[in-house]
Formats: sequence, C-alpha cells, structure tokens
Amino acid sequence: MNTHYDLIVIGAGPAGTPAAMAAAQFGKKVLLVDRREAPGGECLFEGCIPSKVLENAANAYYDVVTSKKFHIEMDSVSQIHWEDVLKDKDEIIKHRSMGAMKQIEMLKTLTYKQGSVNFVDTHTLRVNGELFDFDKALIATGAKTAIPPIQGSGVERVWTNRDVFFEEKLPSEILFIGAGAISCELAQMFNKLGVKTHILERSERILKHIPKDGAMLVQKRMISSGIELDFNVNLERIEYENGTFEVTYTKEGLTHKLEYENVLMATGRVANVDALELENAKVEYDKHGVVVNERLQSSQSHIYACGDVINAPKFAHTASYEAGVVVHNMFAPSPHVVNYEKNSWVLFSDPQVAIVGIDEVRAQEKEIDIAIEVYNYAQDARAQLDKNTEGFLKFIIDTKTKAIIGIEIVHADAASLIGEASLIVANEMSAMDVMKAIHPHPTLTEGFSKLAQQIFFKSMMQRSRG
Ligand SMILES: Cc1cc2nc3c(=O)[nH]c(=O)nc-3n(C[C@H](O)[C@H](O)[C@H](O)COP(=O)(O)OP(=O)(O)OC[C@H]3O[C@@H](n4cnc5c(N)ncnc54)[C@H](O)[C@@H]3O)c2cc1C
Repeated sequence: MNTHYDLIVIGAGPAGTPAAMAAAQFGKKVLLVDRREAPGGECLFEGCIPSKVLENAANAYYDVVTSKKFHIEMDSVSQIHWEDVLKDKDEIIKHRSMGAMKQIEMLKTLTYKQGSVNFVDTHTLRVNGELFDFDKALIATGAKTAIPPIQGSGVERVWTNRDVFFEEKLPSEILFIGAGAISCELAQMFNKLGVKTHILERSERILKHIPKDGAMLVQKRMISSGIELDFNVNLERIEYENGTFEVTYTKEGLTHKLEYENVLMATGRVANVDALELENAKVEYDKHGVVVNERLQSSQSHIYACGDVINAPKFAHTASYEAGVVVHNMFAPSPHVVNYEKNSWVLFSDPQVAIVGIDEVRAQEKEIDIAIEVYNYAQDARAQLDKNTEGFLKFIIDTKTKAIIGIEIVHADAASLIGEASLIVANEMSAMDVMKAIHPHPTLTEGFSKLAQQIFFKSMMQRSRG
C-alpha cells in the first residue's frame, strides 16, 4: 500500500516551503519533496541570496575605491579576497537552509524528502521509485534559464545563474547574453570589481519589462561605468575552443564576432515542468508553465501550482504570497483569488529600481485615468549629503479616486524606501493621507511628504482657479 498524505508539495523554494509549513500548522499530514538535500530553492542556492552576498561585497569594495568623493585618500591598493566572499556566501546559505530545516522538523505532521518527483496518475506521485498517494498536491518546482535555440559547440558550456556563483576565481571578463534583471544586476556587480563586462541584447534597451525612465537611468550608469552594451542584436552562434568562446551575432545587417573567456546566459526563464510527467495527472501546461485559474488551481482542481512555475511575476516574495493563497484555498472555507496589482519588487541595480502597484503602461491597459507626480532626489537633503542625487520618486494617482495606485522609486537606496511605498499602495492612500505622516529630516523618506504636499497644493491651486 502506498503511503498517503493530505498534501504533497513538490519543490521546497519560497513557494513550496511556506505552503507545506502552513498546511502542517493546519494539522494536515504533508510531504515536502525537493531534488535538493535541503529546502531553500533556487532563491537560496542560486538566486536572490548568493547574488546579494556578492553584490554587497562588490558595493562595499566600490565604496572604498570611490571614497575620494568624501575626500578620503587610501594609502594602499584595495584588494577583494574573492575566495572569502564565496565562503561568506556558502555560510549564509547553509545557515538559512539549516534554519528552514529546523522549522520543518519542529512540525510533527510535515516530512521533508529529497528526490525527483513525477506524477503517476491524478492522485499518485513517484519519488525515487517509491509511490505516494495524495488528496491534494502543490506544484512549486520553479523555473530555469531559457536557453534560446542557438547553434555551436559553446552553447552547452555557457554559464547560467546555476554556475556563476560557484566560480572559485573572480573572472577577468564576462559577456552577458540578455539585458534583463539578472544580467543587469550581475554585470554591474562584476563591473564594480574591475571585471570587463559586455552585454548583448536583442531589443533596443535594457530592462524592457520595467518603465523606461528608470531603465534609462540604470543604462546611463552602466555606460558611464564602462559596461559595453549592444542592442538590436541577433545571436547566431556560440563556439568554444581552447578556453575561449567565440560569439557571432548580427546587428543592423552586419555580422560581428566577439571573443570572451566567459559567457553568461540570462535570456528569460522557463518553468520546470519537463520531469513531472504532468500528462499522467492530466494537468495542463503551456510554454509559460502550469496553467492555473485565479485560485491557483490547475486543470485538476485538487492540484494547485504557484511560484515561478506559473505565468505570474517571478519573485520570491510573490511566490510566498501565492503559497498563502493556495493553502487558504485548499483548507479554509471561503476561496481567495490572487491579485498582483499591489505587488512590489526591487531591482538591485545601480541605481536601484523599486516598484509597487500599477505603472503607466498597466494603467493605460486598464483604462484608468491617471496623474503622475515626480519628486527628484537632486533636491533632497539626504541625497545631497550622501552625494547620491540621481533618481526620483514617482506617484501614479487615480484621478477619480485620488488613491495612489503605483509608486516607482529609482535611487541608490530605493530598496529601503519601497516598504513605505507598499503600505501607501496597499492601503489605497491619497496624497492627503501620506501628508499625515511626519517624516524625519534628513532622511530619504522626506520625499514621500514633499511629493504629497506638492500634489495637495497643486490640487488646491487648481480648485481655487475654479
Ligand atoms: C540570479 C537570480 C537573482 C534573483 N534575485 C531575486 C531577488 O532579489 N528578489 C526576488 O524576489 N526574487 C529574485 N529572484 C527570483 C527568485 O529566485 C524566484 O522568484 C523564486 O526562487 C521562485 O520560487 P519558487 O519556489 O517558485 O521556485 P524555486 O526557488 O526555483 O524552487 C523550486 C524548487 O523545486 C525543485 N524542483 C524542481 N523540479 C523538481 C522535481 N521534478 N522534483 C523535485 N523537486 C523539484 C528545485 O530543486 C527547487 O528547489 C532571483 C532569481 C535569480 C535566478
């Protein structure tokens, strides 16, 4: 007889782990399975966390080498000990993973199992040859780099995010394919450490999924710091010989060749569904991943999916938010639907870009009449003190309800400001509501008050003019 579980969760990343733990807290008998020995997913092992450890070190190094702006003269050549930075990365990963494992072990009805999963039928799974039955299942297997169909012996040897954080030596040069969030963050990080960096992108600018004004500030910074950027590029071949990649591409009708020691491919993400044998469970999927409804149910209503494996914003916190919706819908009486309109995220570029809610493009799609108001950090006291005046704070206001429905922040410190922005958007606050908060001086948060006042006085003037 197969062992039976109330819920089997496949994938122990930011989607699967909190879902399994919450269901166990509901008293359900839960099996959490992952190919990896320990929980954490791509986010912990090859994504958010390792990238941020290395970026922190690179930013600290860069602050030292650029400390002249504060009239500090260094009397020796700065050096970064890359092998020690990598050790820090491994330590924090181990610490976080063990912490998650301890929490799992404290839940008596939750079992963690290492293994690769595939469906046998609509209520049975196979894990390493052993069969398990379930009432409900959650597919939370994440995504991986989508490798475009390119010819050449080098394609199989390029790095993705699964390789780059494990290189023992700091590389001397990297050619990045794709100018999305992962490439931009990593290219700026390596550039700050003196690594020669070059990006090939098929569209006409970097970060085509984010508003153009923010993307352009990042692009300008990249160019001024020496990152080479080539746009409207059509990749043809990647060959590898004697430790060198030869990348052939066309641009404006001309063929170009570049030679680089390392190539990193960050050309979008594709859902991890291949190994699951979803056909056996009659679960529908397409090129964007598992197809789900707004309650996150697949074509089999007892099998749910969430996180990077579905067609939705691909962030760790969004995956965990969806996990909450899934567990609620599985075990609580009234169903919840997912709503991404108040989602927030940060691009840890230089300057950072942080966004919550609806941007101009989305507002247009939804036919919402909006007003846009901007506060420029060039006028901000804290930004001037920090010599970091580039960037802006932007409110997108629904002119009918006066609610602030979207906020975009571009600044070196945008990540620390997005929390307040999230609360403003989540609570559908107006400029008047924001004005009630008295922000401390001199901090970057003053921008919220100043922008709210600007909006309020503008509307007063308009009203007084009749
Ligand atoms: C370089 C990089 C940087 C990033 N930085 C950020 C950031 O700063 N902030 C942010 O919010 N997001 C960031 N992300 C995105 C974030 O990592 C993902 O959105 C998040 O990991 C998605 O969580 P998930 O649980 O859906 O999937 P994952 O974290 O990918 O976890 C899925 C798990 O499923 C397991 N699995 C897959 N198939 C099977 C199978 N057949 N059997 C058993 N187990 C299986 C995998 O081993 C994996 O552990 C980054 C991503 C990358 C690549």
